[in-house]
Amino acid sequence: MQEDFKNALNNIEDDTDLDEEDEYIELFLQLNADDYVKKLENKMIINLEKELLHPDQVIKIYENGIAAYYELKKYCFSFGKYGKKYFQEMWQHLHNSKEKDFDFVDSLKSYLEDYKNNYDKYLKEYNKTAELLKRVSNPLEENIKRHYDPDAWYIRIGNRVNIYANDTNTYISLAGQKCIEFEETLLEYANDFKDSLCPYCKEKIELPKQRKNCPLCKRKIYIVGGGIKQGMMALKEEDKIKLYQLRKDFKIDKKYNPNYGHGIVVEDSTNIIENTKKEP
Ligand SMILES: [Zn+2]
Repeated sequence: MQEDFKNALNNIEDDTDLDEEDEYIELFLQLNADDYVKKLENKMIINLEKELLHPDQVIKIYENGIAAYYELKKYCFSFGKYGKKYFQEMWQHLHNSKEKDFDFVDSLKSYLEDYKNNYDKYLKEYNKTAELLKRVSNPLEENIKRHYDPDAWYIRIGNRVNIYANDTNTYISLAGQKCIEFEETLLEYANDFKDSLCPYCKEKIELPKQRKNCPLCKRKIYIVGGGIKQGMMALKEEDKIKLYQLRKDFKIDKKYNPNYGHGIVVEDSTNIIENTKKEP
């Protein structure tokens, strides 16, 4: 096992492509954990199913979403070429089962336009549902749901992992699943990071920003962002190498797997993979 990791490390050091890949992944993780990015993304990811909204409110929400998109674009681009790449991969060149390449903002714009063009229709629906809610003590959730598109192209899966899903935030590949499973074994290192402990000797030390040897046991520590929302982790070298290899596999799978984007879906945060390609 130890030998395998050593070989893998040698291969990594010979591979200049991976340095670039590393650099991109570092920035990817940094932006992924960035509170400002999250704040803007939350404005862009619009879910109207939770509550009954007046069309004026809906229009405002879409307008804010579109403004957040451009704000995020400006912010990501300010990180240079990898920031630009991040934004393009996350929001500008997306794909789903219906479209091969689309820009996230276009869908926001078309929903906004739809609400503006069909304002009277939406107002009527709103009033009808509001009236229903007033009259009946039971909220009649099913009826309300029917007012909204059940096949909305964007389905946000709560608490789902981000980094291993595709751009619609809905689907995941088997390689992504492997990353998740491996990362779940690394959870204790997220605690090490929180407690500022060396992952080897478990002594309290000042953790490095990226990679550095422990001042006590002298072994190399890597600070890496987790993809399954466990925050930052203080990793041992062998775990970092394995994680990066899995992530590399995932990125390749994402690029070439024809199922990626419509084949495999993670249903919930317990990571149950289900084939959604069942024909009705
Ligand atoms: Zn140590």
